[in-house]
Amino acid sequence: MRYLSTRGGMASATFSDILLGGLAPDGGLTLPESYPTVTPGELVSWRHFSYPQLAFALLSRFADDIPAADLQALIDKTYTVEAFHNTAITPVTPLRDGVWLLGLANGPTLAFKDIALQLLGNLFEAALLNTGGHLNILGATSGDTGSSAEYALRGKRGIRVFMLSPHQKMSRFQTAQMFSLQDPNIFNIAVRGVFDDCQDMVKAVSNDSDFKTRYAIGTVNSINWARVAAQIVYYFKGWLAVTSRADQEVSFAVPSGNFGNICAGYIAKRMGLPIRRLILATNENNVLDEFFRTGVYRVRPTDQVAQTSSPSMDISKASNFERFIFDMVERDPAVVRALWQQVDTQGYFNLSATPYFQAVWESGFVTGSSTHQDRMATIRRVHQESGIIIDTHTADGVKVGLEYREEGVPLLCLETALPVKFEDSIIEALGCPPERPSGYENIETLPQRFIVMDADASAIKDYIAHHAS
Ligand SMILES: *Cc1c(COP(=O)(O)O)cnc(C)c1O
Repeated sequence: MRYLSTRGGMASATFSDILLGGLAPDGGLTLPESYPTVTPGELVSWRHFSYPQLAFALLSRFADDIPAADLQALIDKTYTVEAFHNTAITPVTPLRDGVWLLGLANGPTLAFKDIALQLLGNLFEAALLNTGGHLNILGATSGDTGSSAEYALRGKRGIRVFMLSPHQKMSRFQTAQMFSLQDPNIFNIAVRGVFDDCQDMVKAVSNDSDFKTRYAIGTVNSINWARVAAQIVYYFKGWLAVTSRADQEVSFAVPSGNFGNICAGYIAKRMGLPIRRLILATNENNVLDEFFRTGVYRVRPTDQVAQTSSPSMDISKASNFERFIFDMVERDPAVVRALWQQVDTQGYFNLSATPYFQAVWESGFVTGSSTHQDRMATIRRVHQESGIIIDTHTADGVKVGLEYREEGVPLLCLETALPVKFEDSIIEALGCPPERPSGYENIETLPQRFIVMDADASAIKDYIAHHAS
C-alpha cells in the first residue's frame, strides 16, 4: 500500500513514512493510492472476530510495511479489557427498536479519540525504538484531544508531551484527568489566556523550522492518517454486531467536528462495508451541514465559532474534509489546490454549479444540525425511553440520526463521549448527575501536576529547550 498527497506534491510513501507526520510536505493530506476492498465472503468470515482480530484484518492492509507479527502485537497490546473496560471494546447497546448506541467512549479518557490515539501511542513508540529517534509532541487542547493524547503517550520511551491548555477554562473533570497524570514525560502547561492563544503558541513553534527540527517537534492532530485508519475498524465492528446477512445495509449517525470520525466511515463504505447512509450531525457550528445542503464550504473566522454544550464539535473548519473532497473531484490534485486556494483568499468554495456536486449527492451522506435545546430534549427522551444517559455530543448524533431513521435499516448512533465528562449539561437536562464509572469517583481530589505560563511563544520555546528529550 502506497500513500499520496491530496495536493499531488508528495513522492509515493509507505505507512511508516507518513506515520509520524501531520500535513504532507506540500500542505495536503495523505491517503492510500487506492482503497483496499473487502468481499462479502470476508465480511461473513469476520463475524466472530474479536476486536483485535478485526483490527488486524483491516489495518494490515493499510500498514503492510510493518511486519505482521509486530502489528498484531501492537494491536493486542492496545485493545485490552483493562484499557477499554469491555471485551467488545466498542459494544453495541439497544436504544429502541432498530436503533443502537455504538460505544466508542470506554477508553481511559472516556472519549472516542482514545480508540485511535491508544494505538497511535504504541505505533509511535515502536517506530522510534526501530530508528533510535525521539519525539517531542506539542499540542494545544480545550479538553478531549489533549487528555486522549496524554493517556496514549504517558510512559512511552522516546516521547515527551507538551500540552498547552487555557488556564482555568476546562471543566473540573477534564482538568483533573490531564493534570493528575504524574508521568515524568508529560508536561501540562496552563496558559494565561484562551484556547486560541494556546494554538497560536503551537503555530509559532511550528513555523520556526530550525527549532522544530532541532527539538524533533511533532503533533498528534486529527489529520494524522493512522488515526483515520484506526477508526475504520469500529464501523466494521458495529456492522458485524447488528447484522446477520452479508448484504444487509446499516446507517451510522456521527457527531462531527473535524470530519475525522465520519471520514473513516466513508472509507469503510468505499471498502465495501454495506453502509446505507452516513448521517453527519453538527451542533450550531454547522460548516459541514451547510456544505452538504448547498455545495458551499465556508470556513468561519474564529470569532464566529459558537461556544456550545458539545464543545468538542466547535470548529471553524473541518481539517479532514480535504480527504473527502479529493475523492469527489475525481482525485485531481490541481482541483483540490485551486479549491483550498479559494478558501485561503475568499474564505469559501462553491461546488454547487459543478459536476462534482453530483458525486457528493451520491456519496451516501445526509446531514443535520442541532441546538442546545435539541441536545437537552434528546438526552431527556433517550433517558425516558431506555434509562440510558448519553452525553451532549452523542445527543447531537442521536437527534439527527432519528430524523433520517428508515424502517428496516438498523441505525447505529456513535457514542463519542461518556456523560460524566459533561456533568453540568446532564444536570441541566435531567436534574441529577450521571453515575461515575469506577476509578473516576474522586478524580478532582487527586494531586495535580502542571505549570502556569503567559501566552508567549518564546516562553514555551524556552521551556521545551530545557525539558525536551
Ligand atoms: C473530537 C470529538 C468529536 C468530533 O469528531 P471529529 O473526528 O472531529 O469529527 C465528537 N465528539 C467528541 C466527544 C469528540 O471528542
